[in-house]
Amino acid sequence: MTDFSFELLGADGGARRGRVTCAHGVIQTPAFMPVGTAATVKAMLPENVAATGAEIILGNTYHLMLRPGAERIARLGGLHAFMNWPGPILTDSGGYQVMSLSELRKLDENGVTFRSHIDGSYHTLTPERSMEIQHQLGSDITMCFDECPPYPSEKADVARATQLSMRWAARSRAAFVNRPGYGLFGINQGGVHEDLREQSAQALKEIGFDGYAIGGLAVGEGRALMFSTLDFTTLMLPTDKPRYLMGVGKPEDLVGAVARGVDMFDCVLPTRSGRTAQAFTRRGPVNLKNARHGDDPRPLDDHCSCPTCRNYSRAYLNHVVKAGEIIAAMLLTWHNLQYYQDLMADIRRAIESGTFAAFEADFQSQYGQGDIAPL
Ligand SMILES: [Zn+2]
Repeated sequence: MTDFSFELLGADGGARRGRVTCAHGVIQTPAFMPVGTAATVKAMLPENVAATGAEIILGNTYHLMLRPGAERIARLGGLHAFMNWPGPILTDSGGYQVMSLSELRKLDENGVTFRSHIDGSYHTLTPERSMEIQHQLGSDITMCFDECPPYPSEKADVARATQLSMRWAARSRAAFVNRPGYGLFGINQGGVHEDLREQSAQALKEIGFDGYAIGGLAVGEGRALMFSTLDFTTLMLPTDKPRYLMGVGKPEDLVGAVARGVDMFDCVLPTRSGRTAQAFTRRGPVNLKNARHGDDPRPLDDHCSCPTCRNYSRAYLNHVVKAGEIIAAMLLTWHNLQYYQDLMADIRRAIESGTFAAFEADFQSQYGQGDIAPL
């Protein structure tokens, strides 16, 4: 079994081209990870997710521990076998979703006690329990258990949460079972504060991780503040390890964050939007509910190679969206995931050829021009 590794293959300005090797395969970076919250990328067969070019997906510890349970998934051969996804899987730690989804939380030095949003049952998540669950799931990339404070928060509250998260990072590292091909990522916190981000980065580097995530962004601070925070935060992280911006984002966010040195992303946006009639195209988002598409025989995006764009018209998509047909979610999710993977492939090619700045300018002018004119 190969060791978990990251190779930095090249750079163009701040943008990095790399390759992560882990137990279940290789991931070309910059990479976008579709979200498979409850052991499924909603509305997609796993082989179709792979067909879009995705090399890694994300699973959610919080959801899987509550239903069907990590012990059950372990008995059934682990998450890869259970959900029929043979490629790499990253799992989050559960920390973020405990704070955003569960009821009656009690947070202390040990961890978080909470009630399930599904059946009201009581559960406790600690750094040690989160590591155990992610091990039971068989995640290629395990995330440290952390506390992500809401935005906006007082700086003193962000500082307290950051310091707690760094103590939890050390406990996560100690509890993580090292085995070849499996990695553990630390999570940099500190909100939009440079001194807190620096303290967090120093603490994480002293502990030592296989990759470094940037948490606590895209929580309502806005794009300008997110980018300015990334400008100083990525410089604090090791250059020889992958950097993962958690929960981001829109296509413009991905391009801007790559320019600032981020290698990995995840977001529910392409899949969730696929279930609410929003499609992403090279000319920006398109709403398929709009009556203007009702008689339009053209594809959603004539540059796209996905089955939706090859085989179905805007008129058909508008019809199945309005009729509430399941195929609407399937077709739009497939297209959106294809759009995101094509965008990442274009980004990787631009970095390889040393043309990322031109790519970024071209992307922005195309993405801002809006949908094609109605017929
Ligand atoms: Zn398409």
